[in-house]
Amino acid sequence: MSPTPPPFPASTVLGYPRIGPRRELKRALESYWEGRSTRAELERVGAGLREATWRRLAELSLEGLPSNTFSLYDQVLDTAVLLGAVPERYLAAGDPYFAMARGTEGLAPLRMTKWFDTNYHYIVPEIGPETVFKLDASKPLAEVREARALGYGTRPVVLGPVTFLLLADPSGAALDRLDEVLACYEELLAALAAEGVAWVQLDEPALVADRTPRELATAGAAYDRLGSAAARPGLFVATYFGDPGEALPVLAATPVEAIGVDLVRGGAAALPELPGKTVVAGVVSGRDVWRTPPGRALAALAGVRADRVTVSTSCSLLHVPYDVEAERDLDPGLRGRLAFAEQKVAEVVALSSALPSVPAGEGPRGAAVPSAPLTAPVPREGRSPYPVRAAAQAEHLRLPVLPTTTIGSFPQTGELRAARAAVAAGALEPDAYERLVEAEIERVIRLQERLGLDVLVHGEPERNDMVQYFAEHLDGFAVTRNGWVQSYGSRCTRPPILHGDVSRPGPITVRWASYAQSLTSRPVKGMLTGPVTIVAWSFVRDDLPLRDVVLQVADAVREEVRDLEAAGVSIIQVDEPALRELLPLRRASQPEYLEWSVSAYRRATSGAGDRTQIHTHLCYSDAGEILAAIDGLDADVTTIESARSGARILGAVGGFGRGLGPGVYDIHSPRVPDAGEVEDLLRATLRALPAERVWVNPDCGLKTRAYEEVEASLGNVVEAARRLRAEL
Ligand code: GLN
Ligand code: ZN
Repeated sequence: MSPTPPPFPASTVLGYPRIGPRRELKRALESYWEGRSTRAELERVGAGLREATWRRLAELSLEGLPSNTFSLYDQVLDTAVLLGAVPERYLAAGDPYFAMARGTEGLAPLRMTKWFDTNYHYIVPEIGPETVFKLDASKPLAEVREARALGYGTRPVVLGPVTFLLLADPSGAALDRLDEVLACYEELLAALAAEGVAWVQLDEPALVADRTPRELATAGAAYDRLGSAAARPGLFVATYFGDPGEALPVLAATPVEAIGVDLVRGGAAALPELPGKTVVAGVVSGRDVWRTPPGRALAALAGVRADRVTVSTSCSLLHVPYDVEAERDLDPGLRGRLAFAEQKVAEVVALSSALPSVPAGEGPRGAAVPSAPLTAPVPREGRSPYPVRAAAQAEHLRLPVLPTTTIGSFPQTGELRAARAAVAAGALEPDAYERLVEAEIERVIRLQERLGLDVLVHGEPERNDMVQYFAEHLDGFAVTRNGWVQSYGSRCTRPPILHGDVSRPGPITVRWASYAQSLTSRPVKGMLTGPVTIVAWSFVRDDLPLRDVVLQVADAVREEVRDLEAAGVSIIQVDEPALRELLPLRRASQPEYLEWSVSAYRRATSGAGDRTQIHTHLCYSDAGEILAAIDGLDADVTTIESARSGARILGAVGGFGRGLGPGVYDIHSPRVPDAGEVEDLLRATLRALPAERVWVNPDCGLKTRAYEEVEASLGNVVEAARRLRAEL
């Protein structure tokens, strides 16, 4: 039997941001990648950030400090390295870790995908028959020692074996390798115990999604085995992002001493009694930016029936920015309602130390602005059935068969970005900036005319970001200066904060779209971001159901659609790249979500007349599973990523009844496709769909590419469409 661990600390967090309060890690990474600094210099920046985090958490009086939550790129990739799952082909690279993350000359990176229902992306481990699992515990051990040298005992955080294998292969097939992986974890536990570590945290967020009986039994057996290890620290298994449901009794029946539950998303009411266990109760949300209502947290804590309760965050704080105090420009009223990572740690500490005496109802509640009840009736859907619309549009637009178009953005020049910064700093007059934007629009229009595209775009030069731009022009949103959240690797986003009722004070894009249209006789497509995506990529108020928040945004988009149409824009694209992202983790909740999200989209777009062509764009290749919902959007034309998954998507779209543009080349790579390969892809598309419904376009927007690549690629795309047209 393993010895009883010391009591679990009374307060903790499951993880902390690591990019640095001023994105120090981002800068250090990019400098290393560009060869301007050494790996040792990069490591020093990492060590400095870890030290600053531990010091800050200790200053805030947090008892249980985590370690190994830092990563130079991604914690899932770190786990693959920990377990020796490094594919052979990367070993010869100068830096195998970053070769896996980002690729190198002639070597593609490992795949990357979204972390559960967040906007964080992890590297998908690659496990094959040739994989030989072998523990390399250097990173967690080094962090434990590093913290100890600073005077801090820490709890290493490691991704758990079940989630690791399920992330490597969602079908569950990789679970066959569990025994080998568990051998590594046993060895890791022994090494940590020998290092004097009292507790280890194994993250198992996969347990909050639907799991088969076999998967649940496997999880139970895994923790039975790890729990019976001869020498090990106390085992804390953390579930988060939802209700662990049937996985909870399974874990409770194993020897693990502590179990983490997300009481923000999961709800304490459903929590069974857990005698003999410590419950690490996630009552401070790691997924939003609101102060925690003490009453809600205390009620949730009171509902926990276990031997011992620790106050914690619902998940890692990786998904929120560092510090509200850095937001000097925010309205003080709003700032007082916000909590970023630092403030959330203080809340955890306050809740744990003053458990019985936290004054209930003290402090402003999350989103305190009284909301206008949603009285507006759902607008009657004004549009005719698709065949009627399609005929009206054909008559009005007179496009050739296999029309060519792009997804919206053209390369963003450094000049424009610098000009935007100068306007913000007061160093450039808004008028001068607007003239720059107009010049860029004209250049993009002329380029598209020269290339021979059929449906043009204005190129989105006025947008810093497809969500932030709309947030800046809608009431009910605030934007931050420094509220960065890691998206992947060195990439961060600054999600806007939707804090009140949303409304549109005036037209947003109309002047740019109509300026672009005034320059050309070809149709210019107006470009909007859809309501689900605007909400998915923002922090949203939590006092209204998400559905109602999305519907408010849908109404604002609806007004913009109408104004674009009135200004003479006859094709309007409303992008919904995040439709898939908000899909609930549990299947039982998915139909309801798809129902309201699709109806929000229709609410946003159904104000358009029959001859106005509505486009939508989705950027993921695994659209097959929500194809029925995409069909339900009822857009006249859907453009979708597919160049990297060609056959798979084409197999799924056979029954799709409206216009469809499966992307003909991958815009994520600088590679220029030649006309022949685009032609081949188009031929495959024409075997799956009738020619009159096929559109020809790249996979996604061209914002991150260079102009030479874009010109060459689009030239070849137009050429391929012409060749095929000649045959039809
Ligand atoms: N219209 C946007 C663009 O072209 C769409 C981006 C996206 O799908 N994420 O940039
Ligand atoms: Zn896209």
